[in-house]
Amino acid sequence: MRTHKIAAIGADGIGPEVIAAGLEVLTALANKDGGFRLEVEHFPWSSAYYLEHGHYIPEGGLERLKQFDAIFFGAVGSQQVPDHVSLWGLRLPIAQGFDQYANVRPARVLPGVKSPLTNGEDIDWVIIRENSEGEYSGNGGRAHRGLPIEVGTEVAVFTRAGVERIHRFAFELARKRPAKHLTLVTKSNAQRFGMVMWDEIFYEVARDYPDVRTDRELVDAVTTRMVLKPKSLDVLVATNLHADILSDLAAALSGSLGIAPTANLNPERQFPSMFEPIHGSAFDITGKGVANPIATFWTASMMLEHLGETAAAQTLMRAVEAVTASKVHTPDLGGKANTADVTRAVCDYIGNAAPQA
Ligand code: ATP
Repeated sequence: MRTHKIAAIGADGIGPEVIAAGLEVLTALANKDGGFRLEVEHFPWSSAYYLEHGHYIPEGGLERLKQFDAIFFGAVGSQQVPDHVSLWGLRLPIAQGFDQYANVRPARVLPGVKSPLTNGEDIDWVIIRENSEGEYSGNGGRAHRGLPIEVGTEVAVFTRAGVERIHRFAFELARKRPAKHLTLVTKSNAQRFGMVMWDEIFYEVARDYPDVRTDRELVDAVTTRMVLKPKSLDVLVATNLHADILSDLAAALSGSLGIAPTANLNPERQFPSMFEPIHGSAFDITGKGVANPIATFWTASMMLEHLGETAAAQTLMRAVEAVTASKVHTPDLGGKANTADVTRAVCDYIGNAAPQA
């Protein structure tokens, strides 16, 4: 029996609700003769914890997390804590501390889900977000605070090593997909240093992948292409900031923020990788029991894939697709079901599915 150690951090808002739902379906999969078991430890790190203790991650916390095979993360963000404090207090120290430089964000219109796009074209994309530097490198500062001459700088950092590894990761992923097509997203017309280097390194790496078709798009132009010609895109590689924005658009175009998953990968596996839904804390629906757990289930499927549990990952995606197709939808998808209804439907499907292993 294979054992996978999972650190569960539900954190804020609907995070704990969707992580609890995710663990329910993971348990159903493990109980289904999957040949594996999950050893789950819950970490109480959240904004409430921060307000009580003055920190999100206690002394030695990252060292403890290092001992896990994967991190299953909910959402961070609270109305009581400024967003930049919560983000830099919890999610970014894990993602950056564990060098999870490849952020993988698939977007697809699941069966039974209606895309706001009306031209009938399908979406099937993977956005690869550089997740360790760029615009979110934390490089900058403020001087002359509170004075009329106050200044704030936010320096985007691009390193050759950082840019090369994300492009290589994107090419490797694109190569495994049927379309073998990778779009370089850039803004090298206006930003002539880091972004020009970003493009140059892309084409250097491209020489090693002659089987992958490439094209290049400015980040502003790619938004219109996503809406008007979605089928012309397959895998996109973009910087930390650009991909952050594009993946929210991708999630909305595929039906709801409530279905979009993401994996923060340390591809070399020196550190655990982190799996989380794209959405945030969603205060407007917290505690109402109506959060869509599908993003977290899809995220859980990516986590299983990463852990080598491919059969269980596929069963979970089949279950998700069967449930979305049968219109057991939460209100964000226009339905009346709640989180528990969707979770039960997915668990029932798993219970009735053919054995996985
Ligand atoms: P962040 O800044 O952390 O990305 P945000 O405030 O921009 O967060 P969310 O908290 O993700 O955005 O919420 C945006 C909208 O999407 C809200 O109206 C929220 O209710 C809705 N939403 C997000 N996630 C879900 C979900 N899982 N189920 C249903 N609705 C959701």
